[in-house]
Amino acid sequence: MKIAFHGAARAVTGSKHLITLKNNTQILLDCGMFQGMGEVTEKLNSYFGFEPSNISFVILSHAHIDHCGLLPRLVAGGFKGIIYATPATMDLTRILLMDSAKIQEQDAAYMNRKRKEHEAVEKPLYTEDDVIKTLGLFKVVNYNEDFKINEELTLHFTDAGHILGSAAVHLTINEDDRFKRITFSGDVGRYDDLLLKSPQRFDQSDYIIMESTYGDSLHKDLDPIEDMLLNIIKNTCLVKKGKVIIPAFSVGRTQELLYALNGLSLKNELPDLSIYVDSPLSIEATEVLKNHPEVYNSEVKKVLKVDDDIFNFKGLKFIESVEESKSLNSDPRPCVIISASGMAEGGRIRHHIKNNIGNKKNTILMVGYAEPNSLGGKLLAGDKSVYLFRENYDVLAEVASIKSMSAHGDYEDLLHFLACQDPSKVKQLFLVHGEYEVQQNFAVKLKEQGFKHVSIPEYHQEYEI
Ligand SMILES: [Zn+2]
Repeated sequence: MKIAFHGAARAVTGSKHLITLKNNTQILLDCGMFQGMGEVTEKLNSYFGFEPSNISFVILSHAHIDHCGLLPRLVAGGFKGIIYATPATMDLTRILLMDSAKIQEQDAAYMNRKRKEHEAVEKPLYTEDDVIKTLGLFKVVNYNEDFKINEELTLHFTDAGHILGSAAVHLTINEDDRFKRITFSGDVGRYDDLLLKSPQRFDQSDYIIMESTYGDSLHKDLDPIEDMLLNIIKNTCLVKKGKVIIPAFSVGRTQELLYALNGLSLKNELPDLSIYVDSPLSIEATEVLKNHPEVYNSEVKKVLKVDDDIFNFKGLKFIESVEESKSLNSDPRPCVIISASGMAEGGRIRHHIKNNIGNKKNTILMVGYAEPNSLGGKLLAGDKSVYLFRENYDVLAEVASIKSMSAHGDYEDLLHFLACQDPSKVKQLFLVHGEYEVQQNFAVKLKEQGFKHVSIPEYHQEYEI
């Protein structure tokens, strides 16, 4: 059989890995969108490197757009097979893809309004109709279940602890009466997440496709997340009378923040302030999480016994309309604003950053991974001036970060994830979903652990296995 890497190859977005069996069955692992790659993004998203109608099945690791965001495009291109995912991933994918289609349609409409007569009409990458067709192809498979797709293929999901519903994918493939086991890690979470369970152990694999986002860094903080959050809020809002602006992904970090703030509120430590969640998608994602309590870790289950609404507390306000969002600009009172996206590459957060970056009273608090070229990445790197909405802005606000609030494990977590494997039995380990330099450093660590054959595939590279 063959395996080819059509995205997240020496990069962190566009996750797409294709397994082709001798009988031409094609199994696509994830169908993610490329994001934040500058001018080439559009080109990357319009070319798969394979024929959608030839794909037999898709197996989806989790609902982040860089893993599922091109599914509607695959369906529009002729894919008619089944998409396998966990139940929570299916629920989250529904709201994220509908939101993504809305953005695609709005962007195309905006470009067409600006279009000169001789220019071609801009078409959205996909529409809400394409998303509806896509959702009809989903079939759910629970964690820890051996699900027989056909005579040759058995699928098994284990919890990857990354976001609600996230899974590591394990395929047992019978080809010519020889069994091969392939594991795709998806994105791997941390072993001490506030909300989610830790990534699970899994049976021995022959081939492993492994994410490597934080393959060469550690992000344990010295203090607990709640303490760091409280210090930043007190210092900014009570001492300096400013605002705390937090870019956070709608799915995952926003709920983790709300849970931490709720914990402070339960202990009566949270100052009397308005805390806004300004992202309609975050509101929907919080509801989906509430509907899947099976993903919570044991600590959360204890809190649920004394507080049945762990994402809600005094002072919290959810903002839906654009008007309400804009009205926050003119309100001088200290407050906390949580808004998407996490890398500050799009969404309402960019307006809040623009309006607050020029005042040293304020703090911009980063709480997760930000691709180095994104606005969030530049702020994290300490840039003194940033470009947004076609203007340069001096960074006068304080920039803080809580590194351990990442959905991705650091390299110790990644090695922990692989610790259940006998490295001498792993025939090949492919590193995906990471910057190339990081992957090279991670490969050294893996070799030290005894994984002899570590490969870092290039975009569209194919291997015979
Ligand atoms: Zn992810």
